[in-house]
Amino acid sequence: MANEQLRTAAESEPQVTEKLSPSIHPQVFQHTVNQADMAISITDVRGNILYVNPAFTRVTGYGSDEAIGKNQSILSNQSMPRAFYQSLWKRISHGEPWGGRLVNRRKDGSKYLAELSISPVVNGAGEVLNYLGMHRDITEVQRLEYQVRNQKALIESVVDAAPVVIALLDIDDRVVLDNHAYKMLQADLGMAEPAPMLMTAVRASLELDSGRGRRTSGYLFLDREVRLDPPGGKQPRWFSCSGSRVREDAGTAEAFLAGQGRDYLLLVAKEITSLRAQQEKARVAALRAVMADEDRVSSLRESLAAATFRLEGPLNMMASVVGMLARRKGETDPMSVALADAVTAGQKALDELRSMIPGETREPIGPVNLNELLRDVLDLSTGRLLAAGITVNWKPQAMLPTLKGAPNKLRSLFKALIDNAIEAMNTRGCRERELTVVSKARLGGIEVIIADTGPGIVGTQQLKVFEPFHTTKRGGGHLGTGLPSAQQVAAEHGGFIEIEPATARGCRVRVLLPLDRRP
Ligand code: FAD
Repeated sequence: MANEQLRTAAESEPQVTEKLSPSIHPQVFQHTVNQADMAISITDVRGNILYVNPAFTRVTGYGSDEAIGKNQSILSNQSMPRAFYQSLWKRISHGEPWGGRLVNRRKDGSKYLAELSISPVVNGAGEVLNYLGMHRDITEVQRLEYQVRNQKALIESVVDAAPVVIALLDIDDRVVLDNHAYKMLQADLGMAEPAPMLMTAVRASLELDSGRGRRTSGYLFLDREVRLDPPGGKQPRWFSCSGSRVREDAGTAEAFLAGQGRDYLLLVAKEITSLRAQQEKARVAALRAVMADEDRVSSLRESLAAATFRLEGPLNMMASVVGMLARRKGETDPMSVALADAVTAGQKALDELRSMIPGETREPIGPVNLNELLRDVLDLSTGRLLAAGITVNWKPQAMLPTLKGAPNKLRSLFKALIDNAIEAMNTRGCRERELTVVSKARLGGIEVIIADTGPGIVGTQQLKVFEPFHTTKRGGGHLGTGLPSAQQVAAEHGGFIEIEPATARGCRVRVLLPLDRRP
């Protein structure tokens, strides 16, 4: 009966629109459908089953003799909303194919999730004669999909709850995924994206360390301690960063064969600011002791240098008097001889004094983070700044490139400039007391501005202050060697210090240190 109906449907088809290849016998189609791995059914326009293939029996449990003549609704689990079937029927009865997922019930009553597609079979006049239904059991696929989705949600909540900053970066350091701690950091710092800055710092530290081979298997880098200087002079923050490569397989058809994919970097940064703060405290205390020692030695050096400088004048004068006397009265004249002896003794004493001037210690050259160094100097000067009622406006560039230089020398350079600024403002009559320190990467180097609101340095003095033993300060205690020594240190680093032409108020000192010149 059903076969007859099928035959009728085929016969009512007036034309065969697609030609079959002569080598393919029509029976091949029947075998193909019979042996297909998908549950296939053909119905009449009411959904009554006319044909089912063996795969249909395997999936539903209904043999062809049980299914034929029944409506497809034998598979209905009666759980899908009515509107679902209404829209299905609306489409197919208008000659349009339909596809979707629904819950089916097997002959034994067990349920399964089916992915079903229904194609109307139309005649040349566009009338729907039959429906071709194809479906497969996707219960397992769905279970796996849910498993993946649940795992993803689980991983996301674990990553989000982790008390460390986590960000997934693409090859251009763009953040493609981040966690709650990352967003908090971003809000705290008021920065666009902290991740690229952390990566710049990590790369700088890797570059400096390239010889030491600290690469740890599985990680691109591990426990790299880097520092972020937030804008607005906020306290620096420290992070211990680790990074590993994550590969994502591309979902494209080409990628299936070629194994294409995208590489990401998983950045995990643990904040260690409080730990570092303790270490920093101890370090600054040690630094203070070293600097005090160096200060003592350098003031001894300067005092001796000044003493020899001052003694040289009168001695030279005496030497020329000896010469004059010898010419006038002869070299054997007792007065000339006595004076010559005195000059010789004086010069010997002067030489001895010179030999007592402590020599400069040779300092090894190493990587210097100027922000860190400037922060050290400010920390060392905290007591004096507070005592003088000076407010500090510290504006570091968030990430400065690393400089190669002599850290202690550079520290004394900036200390001399900051000491000068404090002294200039710590005078009666100077009401506004603000010290501004700015660091910026500029012109292949690093520029540091140290500006005060003191009386300033008049134009004629702006070059002279760099001459040794020149001082603009009245009264004793000033040798005038601070700026010349600072200038010498800058020059040893291939840079220079200049006093910017008269500003509205105070003094603005600019230090420029190139990145690529070793002292
Ligand atoms: P029914 O009362 O049979 O139908 C629900 C609603 O569907 C009706 O209110 C009506 O709006 C609409 N409807 C039903 N029959 C027609 C019709 N002949 N013309 C226009 N509208 C109609 N259902 C499954 O649950 N699982 C399957 O795997 C499945 N495979 C199918 C394969 C094919 C080729 C076709 C044509 C239909 C298939 N169906 C399948 C749909 C099935 O025929 C039923 O419509 C459905 O199972 C709902 O049955 P029911 O007894 O719950 O409700």
